Amino acid sequence: MQLKANKKKTKRERETMTNKKTETLIDKKGIRLDGRKVDELRPVKMEVGVLPNADGSAYLEQGRNKILVGVYGPKEAHPRHIARQDRAVIQCRYHMAPFSVDERKSPAPSRRDVELSKVIREALEPAVFLEYYPRTSIQVYIEILQADGGTRCAGINTAALALADAGIPMRDLVVACAAGKVDGKLVVDLMDTEDKVGEADVPVAFMPNLNAITLLQMDGKLSPEEFETAINMALDGCKQLYAVQKEALKSKYVSVEEDKEE
Ligand code: ADP
Repeated sequence: MQLKANKKKTKRERETMTNKKTETLIDKKGIRLDGRKVDELRPVKMEVGVLPNADGSAYLEQGRNKILVGVYGPKEAHPRHIARQDRAVIQCRYHMAPFSVDERKSPAPSRRDVELSKVIREALEPAVFLEYYPRTSIQVYIEILQADGGTRCAGINTAALALADAGIPMRDLVVACAAGKVDGKLVVDLMDTEDKVGEADVPVAFMPNLNAITLLQMDGKLSPEEFETAINMALDGCKQLYAVQKEALKSKYVSVEEDKEE
C-alpha cells in the first residue's frame, strides 16, 4: 500500500518552517498543513515479522515516519552486571539513521537518542512479564529510517508489535499517540512542522486492556483544561492505533494458523 503522506514536505510546510507564514499551520477551514482535520491521525501501516533473523520484528509507516524494530531475547544478560536476579531487563536502543532527517544526522547516539531510549524502555516495561525470565535481557532495537514528528510514539507502537512477534509474554500491548497545540487549537498526532512550530506536544503511551498510562510527557505550555483535553485526544488516537496493531498481528498469525490446518 502506498501512503499518500510519503511525499516530500509540501510548499506550505516549507514556508511555515522558514517562518514566512507562521500563522498558517491550520487554515480558516480548520485544515492542517498535510490536509488533516484537528482530530485526524496520519495514514498508518504496520507489519510484523519483517526481519527473519531477529526473534521478533515490526515495521511501521505513520505519515512520513518509517520505523523498523528488531527484538532479540530473552537471552543471558550482557554485560552481566546489568542482570537482575528476579526479572529480565529490557535494553532499548532508539536510533535515528543519518538519512532520517533533512540534514544528515551523525550516526553516533545523540543525547536525544539516549533520552528516548530510556523513556521508550520505561513505557514498554510494565507490559512485559519480566519476572518470567530472571537474569536475562530482552533487546529492542528501534531504527528511525525516516523521521517526521512523533517518532517516540511511533517507535513504541512498532516495538510493542516486535515484542509480541518475538513471542514474549505480555500483559497487554502498548500503544502511543501524541496530542498538542498548534495555532491555538488542540490537535492529535503532530507531524514534524507542527511539533517544531506548534505551542505544545503531549506524547502518551497506554495499555488499552489494563487502562494504564505508561508514558506521559509534555513539551510547551497548556492550561489544565487543555492538558486534560489533549490527553483524551491522545488516548482516542491510541485506541485507533491499537486496532491497527491488532490487525497487523492477526494478518501474520491467523494466516500461519490457516496454513497449519491445510
Ligand atoms: P518525537 O519524534 O518523539 O516527536 P522530538 O519532539 O524530540 O521527538 O522530535 C520531533 C521531530 O523533530 C522528530 O520526529 C524529527 O522529525 C525531528 N528531529 C529530531 N531530531 C532531529 C535532527 N537531528 N535533525 C532534524 N530533525 C530532527
